[in-house]
Amino acid sequence: MNGVSYVIDCGNGVARQMVLAKLKLASIRNVFLTHHHSDHNADYGNLLLLSWETDLATRVDAYGPPPLVEMTRLFLALNDYDIRTRIADEGRPPLRGLIAAHEITAGGPVMQDDNVKVTAALVDHPPVKPAFAYRFDCPDRSIVISGDTRPSQNLVKLAQGADVLVHEVMYLPALEQLIATETNAKTLREHLLASHTTSEQVGRIATEAGVKTLVLSHFVPGGYPFLKDEVWFDAVRPYFSGNLIVGRDLLEL
Ligand SMILES: [Zn+2]
Ligand SMILES: [Zn+2]
Repeated sequence: MNGVSYVIDCGNGVARQMVLAKLKLASIRNVFLTHHHSDHNADYGNLLLLSWETDLATRVDAYGPPPLVEMTRLFLALNDYDIRTRIADEGRPPLRGLIAAHEITAGGPVMQDDNVKVTAALVDHPPVKPAFAYRFDCPDRSIVISGDTRPSQNLVKLAQGADVLVHEVMYLPALEQLIATETNAKTLREHLLASHTTSEQVGRIATEAGVKTLVLSHFVPGGYPFLKDEVWFDAVRPYFSGNLIVGRDLLEL
C-alpha cells in the first residue's frame, strides 16, 4: 500500500516469494505473525536478515504472540557473526536497532498508520496459544486473514462485512489418504480435526460474516494427495454464494 509492504506470516521462502511478487524487501515496515507454528514463522528472522543484507535500512515493527521478543533476540544472536561482519565490512546500520518486536496476548487494536488500521482477534488453534486472526482496514478495502483456526466466532465477528476473507481450509475426504502417509497418524488426525476448518465450515463462516470475497488458503492436504482447484471450489460453493477464489502462490487480488 503506497509503497509500504505489510507481511502477514513468514513461512519458508517468504523473502524469495516477495522478490518473485516484485515487492522491494526494503519496503517492509510491519510484520504480523498469526501464531508460532513453523509453517508461519520459520523465516521470520530470515526475512528481516535477508532484507537487511539487500537494502533494508528503516525500522520494522513485528507483532505476534509471545515469545516473539525472545525469538527476535535469539535470532539476532544466532546470526551475530554475519551481522557484525556486514556492519563493519559493508557499512550497514545495526540490525538490532531496526527491529522492534511487540508481543500481543489479546484481541483488539494492534497498530494504525496512514495506510491501514490493524485489529487482531483470538482464534482457536489448539494446542498453540494464543493464535490470532488479523483484520486490515484500508481506505479502499478491508481484508481479514484467518491464520490457523478451527471454526471461530471471534473470527466471524472480526470479519463482519469485510471485502476479502482469506481463510484456511481442510478437505475431509482426502484426509485419510494424507494421514496414511504419516508415521504419527493418530495424533496428526486428532490435531487436524481439533485445530482446523473444513471446506463446509469455511463456507458457512464466510456467509455468516457477510464477506464479499472468500479466498481459500493454507490447504490441508496441500501436497499429497494433490487436489485440483475445482475440488476445493466445489467443496465450498454450496455454503457460500459470494465471490469464491481458490488461492495460489503469488496470487494478486
Ligand atoms: Zn498452525
Ligand atoms: Zn499452518
